[in-house]
Amino acid sequence: MVEADVVVVGFGAAGACAAIEAAGAGAQVIVLDRFGGGGSTALSGGVVYAGGGTDVQREAGVSDSPEGMYEYLRREVGDVVSAETLRRFCDTSADMVRWLGGLGVPFEASLCPYKTSYPSNRHYLYYSGSEAAGGFRDAAPPAARGHRVRGRGTSGGVLFRYLARAVRERGVRVLTQAHAVGLVTDDGGRVVGVDCRRLTGAPAFAHRVLSRFAAKPGLYLPPLRRALHARAEALERRYGRPVRVRARRGVVLAAGGFIANREMVHEHAPAYRGGLTLGTPGDDGAGIALGVQAGAATAELGTVSAWRFITPPSAFLGALLVDTQGRRVCDESRYGAALGHALVTECGGRGWLLADAALVRDARRQLRAQTVWFQWAQARYLLGSSRRTSANTLDEVAARAGVDPEGLRATVEAHNAAARDGRPDPAGKPSEFVRPLEEPPFSLLDISIRPSTWYPCPMLTLGGLAVAEDTGAVLRADGGGPIPGLHAAGRTAVGLCSRSYVSGLSLADCVFAGRRAGLASARLDTNENVF
Ligand SMILES: Cc1cc2nc3c(=O)[nH]c(=O)nc-3n(C[C@H](O)[C@H](O)[C@H](O)COP(=O)(O)OP(=O)(O)OC[C@H]3O[C@@H](n4cnc5c(N)ncnc54)[C@H](O)[C@@H]3O)c2cc1C
Repeated sequence: MVEADVVVVGFGAAGACAAIEAAGAGAQVIVLDRFGGGGSTALSGGVVYAGGGTDVQREAGVSDSPEGMYEYLRREVGDVVSAETLRRFCDTSADMVRWLGGLGVPFEASLCPYKTSYPSNRHYLYYSGSEAAGGFRDAAPPAARGHRVRGRGTSGGVLFRYLARAVRERGVRVLTQAHAVGLVTDDGGRVVGVDCRRLTGAPAFAHRVLSRFAAKPGLYLPPLRRALHARAEALERRYGRPVRVRARRGVVLAAGGFIANREMVHEHAPAYRGGLTLGTPGDDGAGIALGVQAGAATAELGTVSAWRFITPPSAFLGALLVDTQGRRVCDESRYGAALGHALVTECGGRGWLLADAALVRDARRQLRAQTVWFQWAQARYLLGSSRRTSANTLDEVAARAGVDPEGLRATVEAHNAAARDGRPDPAGKPSEFVRPLEEPPFSLLDISIRPSTWYPCPMLTLGGLAVAEDTGAVLRADGGGPIPGLHAAGRTAVGLCSRSYVSGLSLADCVFAGRRAGLASARLDTNENVF
């Protein structure tokens, strides 16, 4: 039998941060991962939401305060966590960036000068949420809080590399190709171990290769992912050997979310169809299921983040997002998940961006300077003939695209009149993004949510196991308090981003909650407050 003080299930950001803290608190730690480790974290954009005056913000000349960060996030995430927990997150945010920096994670104080959904390789600090959008900037002075880990392309791999190095440097044992399939409890209901099925030797090697490619490029090529993952599963069934890993102090579940589990998504969030699985095949809800089998409560399982980014190019902020009736959907300067949410929940997934000739020209001009490769490909596709309908009049373009011409005309007239007279935009968009749309030809770009290779709508689940906010201890469904010996973090648990996601908030939550769970589980008394 394999044995440690703390057993962590899942080697992504949350699991790695839990392991680092548990080992730092003197515990002997084993981390299990079904695949090779890294999870969604290694695929991610590597954006960490942080503020309150981080060293990076200061160096970039960005003024921010924990209070300003709190006021913005309170509006964004509501009461998904208590005011006290959110305040703690904001008060300790600058320290979190220092802690990551201490592990070697590179950040850079290069502020992006334009609004974007993900900065190019020249910028690593940007407005990653809706801070500057109407309705938010009045609550708190906007500040750039998206700290993108320095690295070309999507830099989540760089983040994970440094976390993994820190884990190993602390003497933590990492068992890969180890699929956790059950929790072991003692007679008193305390969680004392994990049952897993492990691969070794040649099957482990083959499984590692298959799962690596299933993660990426499989992320962008779903049929390839399905084929590779099916083979990896077959290896698990045929060669997986049972191993019981005993946990003397506790178990931390950090096995990601459930976006790859169709049945679970259908059950809890049926409106979210046709999206791109933003995660790995490991996001099958296994961590949540393990907790539920031990009697845990869940929350926010119906919350899915659907990303409909319209920038870069930043010129698109001046476009109008309309529905089939030609009505304005929302302030286009909101974060892409807010746009996605409005499209899914209010418009049946259908929506168009209205642009005039001047706006299309500006958008084309900005393409090269403002994009990384996948954004460039998507924007080109959107501006191409498959998704764009053009005509010399609003009535004509509406009729061709299948949008109500009368509704569209009324929307544009109201918008243009307000823009010309210097009155507030009808949808509340800040004035610096507002421009009258007057120059024909007019274009309607179809940004509806449907399966698409070139313009997919990425989706990830945000809900999970209910946890005590001071320790990360998993709570019982029967209201009987924490399950002894069991903690959870990251997308397996309810966290700061579980009601509303803006870029960087999931990774920031993984670090915050992962550290909390690791510290708490290293202690024998799971009810002890770790803060
Ligand atoms: C392309 C992309 C870009 C993104 N960009 C950002 C961003 O810039 N900022 C941000 O905040 N968020 C971003 N996200 C979301 C974010 O990456 C994830 O929400 C976050 O990484 C989840 O971390 P985690 O530790 O909870 O899970 P993961 O990182 O997925 O780790 C979970 C691990 O558990 C393992 N596992 C699963 N089941 C089992 C089992 N039964 N037994 C053993 N091991 C198991 C998996 O193999 C995996 O390695 C992005 C996601 C994607 C896919």
